[in-house]
Amino acid sequence: MRSIVAANWKMNLPEEGIDEWIEAVLRQPAGDGVEVVIAPPFPYLAAIAGDVGGRSMRLAGQNVSAHESGAFTGEVSPAMLRDVGCTDVIVGHSERRQLFSETDDLISRKLESASKAGLSPILCIGETREIRSTGKTVEHVDSQLKMALGSTEIDDLVVAYEPVWAIGTGENATTLQVEDAHGAIRKILRDLGYDEVPVLYGGSVKPHNAAELAAAEGVDGFLVGGASLVSAAFLEIIAAVADAR
Ligand code: PEP
Repeated sequence: MRSIVAANWKMNLPEEGIDEWIEAVLRQPAGDGVEVVIAPPFPYLAAIAGDVGGRSMRLAGQNVSAHESGAFTGEVSPAMLRDVGCTDVIVGHSERRQLFSETDDLISRKLESASKAGLSPILCIGETREIRSTGKTVEHVDSQLKMALGSTEIDDLVVAYEPVWAIGTGENATTLQVEDAHGAIRKILRDLGYDEVPVLYGGSVKPHNAAELAAAEGVDGFLVGGASLVSAAFLEIIAAVADAR
């Protein structure tokens, strides 16, 4: 299975500077077979594509429109992401779902249009604390996956399991919780006809917990928010995934 570590900068930039961050991460070989993806805010994509060009890091959008073109102020189409050098795109991040009211139906349409344009989507799913406390985590991710993937076949799909209560809180899921969720997700994906989909974990991955989480059964890498803003921390996380392979 492929191993992937993706940096989601959200609406932030690394304090050390973008160029310094890129150089530091590119300077260090990622370790055999670990793919590194960076998702900066839209305005920085083109410049970063120039820095990264053809080297061992891929570029992702943090979001994408479900539409191809037209009167959709503020939106960015899949073809535009391709134009500026993106190969990947994050779809359905919990912040998009919760703060921008993205529905499963919209996420499904985004996946379809991203995939049609040749982008590899990183589909984010995961439960809130309330859902977990009622024991409905598997039911919830099952419904998210079926609603997102029900209609068309998505090429080069990657799934990120990101429990909402672990995102940006400093409270990561335990190994047992991660293994249970990833096992269930993989089974659901298989039932949907997706056999070889990398399943990443996201939610307060830091250098101090990366090795344990990377070694968890069914974890094919990470989607990293806060810790990806510091190149040294991000590199430690990449190294933990390389070691666990
Ligand atoms: C994320 O935004 O996808 C994420 C996992 O954030 P953090 O690592 O900060 O919890």
